[in-house]
Amino acid sequence: MTSDYQTLLADKLRSRIVGRVLVDAPSLRPFMRDQSIYHIEPLVAVLPKHLDDVLQLVRFAAEEGLPLTARGGGSGTAGSALGEGIVMALPHNDFWGRVSDFVASGRQARVQCAAGVLHNDLQRFLKQYGYFLPADVSSADISRIGGNIATKASGPHALKYGSIDRFLEQVVFVTDRGELVDTVAAASIPLRLTRQLADLQSRIRSDAEAVQILRRRQGLKIASGYNLFAFLHDWSPGQLIAQLLAGSVGSLGLITGATLRGEIFERQRAAVLGYFSSMVEAGRAVCALRNLHVAAVEIISRETVAVLQQHADLPADMAMNAHLVLVELSGPGRMEQVERVQQALQVGGFRMSAPLQVARDEAEIEQLWALRKRILWLIRHPEPHLRALSVVNDVGVPPEHLAEFIHDVQQVFARHQLVALIYGHAGSGNLHLRPLFDVTLPDLPGRIRRIADAVYEVVFRYGGTTSAEHGMGRLRAPYLQREWGTALYGYMRELKNIFDPRGMFNPGVVFNDRPITEHMRDDFTGG
Ligand SMILES: Cc1cc2nc3c(=O)[nH]c(=O)nc-3n(C[C@H](O)[C@H](O)[C@H](O)COP(=O)(O)OP(=O)(O)OC[C@H]3O[C@@H](n4cnc5c(N)ncnc54)[C@H](O)[C@@H]3O)c2cc1C
Repeated sequence: MTSDYQTLLADKLRSRIVGRVLVDAPSLRPFMRDQSIYHIEPLVAVLPKHLDDVLQLVRFAAEEGLPLTARGGGSGTAGSALGEGIVMALPHNDFWGRVSDFVASGRQARVQCAAGVLHNDLQRFLKQYGYFLPADVSSADISRIGGNIATKASGPHALKYGSIDRFLEQVVFVTDRGELVDTVAAASIPLRLTRQLADLQSRIRSDAEAVQILRRRQGLKIASGYNLFAFLHDWSPGQLIAQLLAGSVGSLGLITGATLRGEIFERQRAAVLGYFSSMVEAGRAVCALRNLHVAAVEIISRETVAVLQQHADLPADMAMNAHLVLVELSGPGRMEQVERVQQALQVGGFRMSAPLQVARDEAEIEQLWALRKRILWLIRHPEPHLRALSVVNDVGVPPEHLAEFIHDVQQVFARHQLVALIYGHAGSGNLHLRPLFDVTLPDLPGRIRRIADAVYEVVFRYGGTTSAEHGMGRLRAPYLQREWGTALYGYMRELKNIFDPRGMFNPGVVFNDRPITEHMRDDFTGG
């Protein structure tokens, strides 16, 4: 039921905002969930019509002392798009869905887009000119560009191209004081930000241990914590801020627009499917293949394939009783690359359970990728009592440790008597681990906490990360200090303090010591 306080808030907001203000329970329902295990009821949801609404909203939240959470497509898996105060969701209207200022030059293009642009709309826009955004997320149908930047998103092609921050040329955002900052317009950047960031940068750079950790982890695919790697570069204040907003999960400012770089979409592609009777062996093969300058290397466990088979018509090449390694090769030299893949597997003496399959036909390759991108939707609920819950779903380890990691983590699942579906962008060391929880057994929260502790123990042993691409959230925040160490964790806290000293933006998603099962949904048994 809507409280008097909520009604009062809504009335005040409606006097300042042109967009929609939602306060009754049915209208708020879509904003209480994302793709995580959580359920959090906001006081009010606001759908700003245009930029001025966002500026007004930030000022209002500051005056009222209310937390403010931005929401894109709500596809996040760590519970970072949910909040107890005001949730701001950018509607897909003419203003927030705008793509403009496209400029192409040779192999690259630049495009400006509002934060509410659907990922797929941007890809379709770029594709008509022969380009694409290489941070090609599998949630392209629902996630928005603002959400992609805020989570430092990437996809299967991160192996070749990296994550979205590499393609970020400009960010426009609103600060905690309601200022509109354009990172390429120096005059719009508040002096306090420039000064405090310069000071933090100089202290980080003179901390030899911190620099060493950052350098060591720089080559890893990481979306956990703030993007402190940015401080290692000699960027302008605007460039530095744009990089820091990548992966900030709405906790440093509200992103309203960005300029991104697209790359030439490679039309000449081939794909190779390898079949393995052991996941550890598949992991070893991935390590051998990832260095051959291929575009992507994915892994899909036999258990995952078995669940997929129940829910979709798999191409014959995939429907084998084996762990799969899928390699994409691109460009004019792709067939020579196919040969190199074959040789590498032969020379490495990898035990394969069936001959390699090579797909050369574009439609066939597209079919493989389409299926790969649908995996999560297809496996979530394999049997009435089983759920592939988002708990340890986005880990990353240095790729050279992938096989050992798979071995150790399989042992963890066996010890906890869990079957786990494993798939992911293995070439970058990024695995989506989806243990199947029997939700009819008692103490689901306790079992979830224990499996997270046990899996992350292994992840940290190999110098890995709790999140390689999906980003921070309540699910991972309690492990942040352990992952990064006291000093870097401290710098992250300082960074938050520079941008948002009152802690208004999305509290609890980066720094949080509460159990990860706090705010967990209680209806997993409900279907
Ligand atoms: C089926 C499926 C497949 C996925 N595949 C991938 C994948 O391939 N690669 C990948 O990286 N991730 C993937 N994800 C995770 C998720 O889709 C990404 O994290 C995505 O970038 C989130 O975008 P969103 O618009 O849905 O953001 P939301 O989930 O709405 O929000 C995510 C975070 O971004 C913040 N945020 C959103 N908009 C703004 C804004 N305008 N300003 C400031 N902060 C903002 C929110 O506060 C929140 O902290 C997948 C998820 C699912 C369910």
